[in-house]
Amino acid sequence: MSTKPYALITGGSRGIGAAIVLALAADGFPVLINYRSSHDRAQEVAAQVSAAGGVARLCPFDVRDAQASGTALQAELDRGTHIGVIVNNAGVLQDGPFPSMQADAWESVTRTTLDGFFNVTQPLVMPMVRKRWGRIVNIASVSGVIGVRGQANYSAAKAGLIGATRSLAQELAKRKVTVNAVAPGLIDTEMIENVEMDHVMPRIPARRLGRPEEVAALVRFLVSEDAAYITGQVIGINGGLA
Ligand code: NDP
Repeated sequence: MSTKPYALITGGSRGIGAAIVLALAADGFPVLINYRSSHDRAQEVAAQVSAAGGVARLCPFDVRDAQASGTALQAELDRGTHIGVIVNNAGVLQDGPFPSMQADAWESVTRTTLDGFFNVTQPLVMPMVRKRWGRIVNIASVSGVIGVRGQANYSAAKAGLIGATRSLAQELAKRKVTVNAVAPGLIDTEMIENVEMDHVMPRIPARRLGRPEEVAALVRFLVSEDAAYITGQVIGINGGLA
């Protein structure tokens, strides 16, 4: 593509999402940085993009909220923004043993991942199909692939996202829109700051956490022209954990 379309990254204010924002902006994509509440952090990420000569705009909304998502995305479409890349990265953890799991822990985790995927992706698919080019990357988790104790909500949400990835990939392949999932293991972000490392580290063959930049490099490749024939895949990045 001569002029690159916008890339929308949900949860782009910090962690893996912020690294993806920076990586795609470095590849010449103008970026829309979505987040829920970390306005200052998102602004810092946007400033980093601008300082490196890129284009970034903030696009805050709660991905669980269909109306808020629809309104924000429609406003972008109305102003003529061509969004050709979606990275569904926003996610939350609320771990706990299933017998004592409360409904709000189930709902907040599954709704952020699954309703978030729908609310963000559905309004943007037809414009991509019309352009005959698009890249959708869904950030799943090793938890959605093998299941993890204490994460019935999170594993269910991420496994659901993987199902949606495989299905949508089949619908859109003919239109040159690829849909893939990335399934990270443990990545060094605020999300895992309460994880007991002594317990987890021996189970990671690489004996270290992944870095957000390593996940971003994979997303960067999936979004590139070189990855045009990769669709419907779930690509692990986990130091050998699964
Ligand atoms: P962080 O907790 O560091 O960041 C989460 C991001 O998601 C923030 O930008 C946050 O915005 C945003 N977010 C959360 N809920 C919403 C919402 N309802 N609407 C809009 N934005 C929202 O997480 P990570 O960077 O670690 O994780 C990113 C993704 O990678 C998640 O999907 C996670 O499940 C997945 N993942 C992470 C792993 C890890 O070990 N870190 C491993 C496997 C998968 P705000 O700052 O405004 O709250």
